[in-house]
Amino acid sequence: MAMNCLECNAQLSVPQDAINGEVVSCKECGAPYMVVVDNTGTLSVQPLEVEEDWGE
Ligand SMILES: [Zn+2]
Repeated sequence: MAMNCLECNAQLSVPQDAINGEVVSCKECGAPYMVVVDNTGTLSVQPLEVEEDWGE
Protein backbone atom coordinates (compact mmCIF):
# COMPACT_ATOMS: atom_id res chain seq x y z
CA MET A 1 0.00 0.00 0.00
CA ALA A 2 1.19 3.52 -0.67
CA MET A 3 0.64 6.37 1.70
CA ASN A 4 2.55 9.61 1.78
CA CYS A 5 3.97 11.38 4.78
CA LEU A 6 2.07 14.53 5.64
CA GLU A 7 5.27 16.17 6.80
CA CYS A 8 7.68 15.53 3.96
CA ASN A 9 5.58 13.69 1.38
CA ALA A 10 7.89 10.71 1.32
CA GLN A 11 6.22 7.39 0.72
CA LEU A 12 5.39 5.51 3.88
CA SER A 13 5.88 1.80 3.82
CA VAL A 14 3.17 0.01 5.73
CA PRO A 15 3.35 -3.78 5.83
CA GLN A 16 0.36 -5.60 4.38
CA ASP A 17 0.02 -7.48 7.63
CA ALA A 18 0.13 -4.38 9.79
CA ILE A 19 -2.28 -4.51 12.68
CA ASN A 20 -4.67 -1.88 13.95
CA GLY A 21 -2.82 0.48 16.25
CA GLU A 22 0.63 -0.40 14.96
CA VAL A 23 2.93 2.59 14.80
CA VAL A 24 5.07 3.22 11.75
CA SER A 25 7.54 6.01 11.25
CA CYS A 26 8.38 7.93 8.13
CA LYS A 27 11.78 6.78 6.99
CA GLU A 28 12.65 10.26 5.81
CA CYS A 29 11.64 12.53 8.67
CA GLY A 30 10.66 10.08 11.39
CA ALA A 31 7.11 11.38 11.80
CA PRO A 32 5.04 8.75 13.63
CA TYR A 33 1.82 7.37 12.17
CA MET A 34 -0.65 4.94 13.59
CA VAL A 35 -2.03 2.23 11.36
CA VAL A 36 -5.81 2.00 11.34
CA VAL A 37 -7.53 -1.08 9.94
CA ASP A 38 -11.23 -0.65 9.42
CA ASN A 39 -13.75 -3.48 9.58
CA THR A 40 -13.38 -4.19 5.88
CA GLY A 41 -9.66 -4.74 6.33
CA THR A 42 -8.66 -1.52 4.63
CA LEU A 43 -5.43 -0.04 5.90
CA SER A 44 -4.94 3.65 6.46
CA VAL A 45 -2.66 5.74 8.59
CA GLN A 46 -3.23 8.73 10.76
CA PRO A 47 -0.67 11.06 12.27
CA LEU A 48 0.20 10.04 15.78
CA GLU A 49 -0.31 13.07 17.97
CA VAL A 50 2.13 13.33 20.80
CA GLU A 51 0.17 14.75 23.65
CA GLU A 52 1.96 17.38 25.59
CA ASP A 53 0.43 16.48 28.87
CA TRP A 54 3.38 16.49 31.16
CA GLY A 55 1.77 18.70 33.77
CA GLU A 56 1.35 17.84 37.43
ZN1 LIG B 1 8.17 12.25 6.45
